[in-house]
Amino acid sequence: MAACLETPPLVIPSHLELISSTNAGRNLVTCTRAAAGTVVLNALAFCHVIHQRFRKHTCDACYAFTSIDGRDLPFPCEGTCGVHYCSSVCRDAKKARHSKVCSLTNLGSKSRSKSSKKSDKTLETGINLLLSAISNDVPLSYLVNQLGEDDESISTPGKSKRLSSYTSAEVSLRKLLPCPLPQGSYSKALSTSHFNAVGLYDEYGSETGYLLSPLMALVNHSCLPNCCQVVENGRVFLKALRDIEVGEELSYSYVSIGLDSDRRKSILDNWGFTCGCYRCRIEIQSGEKTTNSELETFDERHVCCCGAVSFEVERNRGGEGEEEDCVCHIAGIIM
Ligand SMILES: [Zn+2]
Ligand SMILES: [Zn+2]
Ligand SMILES: [Zn+2]
Ligand SMILES: [Zn+2]
Ligand SMILES: [Zn+2]
Repeated sequence: MAACLETPPLVIPSHLELISSTNAGRNLVTCTRAAAGTVVLNALAFCHVIHQRFRKHTCDACYAFTSIDGRDLPFPCEGTCGVHYCSSVCRDAKKARHSKVCSLTNLGSKSRSKSSKKSDKTLETGINLLLSAISNDVPLSYLVNQLGEDDESISTPGKSKRLSSYTSAEVSLRKLLPCPLPQGSYSKALSTSHFNAVGLYDEYGSETGYLLSPLMALVNHSCLPNCCQVVENGRVFLKALRDIEVGEELSYSYVSIGLDSDRRKSILDNWGFTCGCYRCRIEIQSGEKTTNSELETFDERHVCCCGAVSFEVERNRGGEGEEEDCVCHIAGIIM
């Protein structure tokens, strides 16, 4: 087994156009009007990582999940990797691909326990992510060339530590998987994943893993987005929150909208940009978390009490003075 070399072209759906601007970088705009509630982007994840502690609860094929407090998924992999599946259909669909990398999964944690060093999560997840790409026959050059921004070009917090983890991952991986790509390709692929990961979440809103999709990587952030992200059946979708006119840029929120502008800003610093959306502009102007009828209407309709954005939030209001409960994540539990 070796990493492939050829980079297939990135196919942009015909109702969208890829444009590039100096302040927003690469992004996708609509060529035809999209009605509220329609799917404007439907992309296959080309690789993913399920974090170790969630592997019994998040299906390694379709990302369906069970409650972390409840029963494990019924179909564990027979190997030592720890991945689980929601159904025999998911397990069988992944069998041939997964068997190529099953024994290599967790290489990061194995080398960690040998040297009894402090946990290096970046290294561990990085190795598992690249193994996932390799098992799906996704050329590494794809991750290097098509995901856009990488860590080396933008100054972000924790960068030097991350870059050294990527370098260690490259050394470990090259021993296992001889790579025809130049030295530095594995670490470059990993550093692009830092900017382009789409999170997977459980019922508590904890990140259970993440996936990479070159199309999703082209969509920018807004704290007043026109789309929300939906993960289903191993694919990631963007759903229009409202009617989107021709030529409008697609956006979804990378952060919890429940946070105030300072907190959002510090999280967005990790992507190396400052958000200039309408919500941020009026919060900065007034110097506090503020609202007006436009934001109120949006938040009432689309923002759960947990801060997650969805097409239509189901409200679960208790009695007078009681806290509202989040229902959006619980809705995803499959059994
Ligand atoms: Zn499944
Ligand atoms: Zn396995
Ligand atoms: Zn913003
Ligand atoms: Zn939630
Ligand atoms: Zn919620």
